[in-house]
Amino acid sequence: MADTSAPVDRPYDLLIVGGGVNGAGIARDAVGRGASVLMVEQDDLASYTSSASTKLIHGGLRYLEYYEFRLVREALTERERLLKMAPHIIWPMRFVLPHSKLVRPAWMLKAGLFLYDHLASNMTLPKSRAVDFRTHSSGRPLKDDYTKGFVYSDGWVQDSRLVVLNALDAAERGADIRTRTRLIKATRSNGLWQAELEDRVTGKTTQVQARALVNAAGPWVARLLAETLNIPNSKSVRLVKGSHIIVPRVFDGPQAYIFQNPDKRIVFAIPYEQNFTLIGTTDIPWNEAPGKVGIAPDEIKYLCESVNRYFKKDVRESDVVWTYAGLRPLYDDASANASAVTRDYVLDLDTQDGAPLLSIFGGKITTYRKLAEHALEKLAPVLPAVAGASWTATEVLPGGDIGEGGFDAALARLGRAAPWLPAATAWRLLRNYGSRVYEIIGEATSLKDLGEVLGGDLTTREVDYLIQREWARTGEDILWRRSKLGLHLSEAERQKVSDYVQQKAA
Ligand SMILES: Cc1cc2nc3c(=O)[nH]c(=O)nc-3n(C[C@H](O)[C@H](O)[C@H](O)COP(=O)(O)OP(=O)(O)OC[C@H]3O[C@@H](n4cnc5c(N)ncnc54)[C@H](O)[C@@H]3O)c2cc1C
Repeated sequence: MADTSAPVDRPYDLLIVGGGVNGAGIARDAVGRGASVLMVEQDDLASYTSSASTKLIHGGLRYLEYYEFRLVREALTERERLLKMAPHIIWPMRFVLPHSKLVRPAWMLKAGLFLYDHLASNMTLPKSRAVDFRTHSSGRPLKDDYTKGFVYSDGWVQDSRLVVLNALDAAERGADIRTRTRLIKATRSNGLWQAELEDRVTGKTTQVQARALVNAAGPWVARLLAETLNIPNSKSVRLVKGSHIIVPRVFDGPQAYIFQNPDKRIVFAIPYEQNFTLIGTTDIPWNEAPGKVGIAPDEIKYLCESVNRYFKKDVRESDVVWTYAGLRPLYDDASANASAVTRDYVLDLDTQDGAPLLSIFGGKITTYRKLAEHALEKLAPVLPAVAGASWTATEVLPGGDIGEGGFDAALARLGRAAPWLPAATAWRLLRNYGSRVYEIIGEATSLKDLGEVLGGDLTTREVDYLIQREWARTGEDILWRRSKLGLHLSEAERQKVSDYVQQKAA
């Protein structure tokens, strides 16, 4: 039943639907420009595509093959910015690209990498170079058939934490962030949006008003238009499933590998959570309704075969310890092949009846900040509240002010400030929370001051912080999105975390 007693005295400037990276990025930017913002997410933050990516902050080397120069240049520029904005959750990585004469000639790889190194200005990461695997350490895990290749730079991100930190920053600047809240209906009336929201925990509905609505519903973007808003639209999304497998570590060292397949696709093998290797991804057209998706057995087989062409150590299907999959909400550019559909984004503005509606089609984690800027530029002429200057290019995300000397120097400082923290825990906390780690440890002077250990090195103090500050409401929120501790804890420990959160967050 609608809660009509809820006061509706003041419309928000902006109602954003979707708590993935794009919704959270727009919320942060808009509230920083002085707009009043409400963002609603039907589940947990980053529940869908934004926690299921390959987690690369990259220009997208392979997009050069599709002449996506605008996208690659923008993404490479963003890569530099994001590395500075969130040096705790985003870091540089070297990628090893073996040459396989069956797929692409070496001159083509060389030309692509030259462009990749020079397409954007002010790039600080080491440039690409040719390597001989018979002498270079990155050649050790590779089969002897691969003697030559290249190494180049890109970035790595803890994707779901990027979403949470954007939402956190938005909230700290005054945005209203509501998780487990679904937009179930919205209509235009007298130049305003009248929206009905459903609290998915209590089932209660409330009404809110907003001057403009942003449809950042990712895989649901077209359905939200057609079914929830009842607005015809000529643009559509192509949903393309991508899956990953996680196996015990296949190779040593901090470098990742990018392998070319005979079908011309590429597959990454990336060092993951210290003890594991992350392998992905696939491109499977998805014609069913959006929602939680899983990996299919033939995708596991494909991913194992892809890396087994290159690595000496065989990866078997039985080695897989975890999998995840997500739906890419790609802008439908009518490409015949799912791998070829553009990864660029399209913003569609509809200004009917003086109540603007902006819908977002496509996008990448890497370009979310720029997408948010473009979205607000587009809205500004019809929504003066967001007309302020763009500001996000240089402002760090929460915890990103880790101080002089980068991550290693910050870790050394944390070691001196809290010598009682085990080294691996200090590393994990700094990687997840950056300077906010000091908020978690507070006045503690020993490990036992952080409360009960629920599993691994996860203490009740950390879980309380995640509930109070980062909208965690279930064990899953904590084990698989705020962190990846789910990979390291036993079933019994995971249950203990869930029980604790349920009792605390109730
Ligand atoms: C397999 C795969 C690999 C990828 N790898 C990379 C990569 O390495 N690097 C990169 O830059 N990009 C990558 N991407 C792309 C990137 O992940 C996506 O572009 C990005 O996460 C999309 O974010 P979003 O906010 O648009 O969508 P989402 O994260 O899906 O967010 C949309 C949200 O809207 C919510 N929602 C929907 N309807 C409603 C409603 N009615 N009310 C309230 N909430 C609602 C949903 O619950 C959802 O959480 C990858 C994507 C996939 C699938």
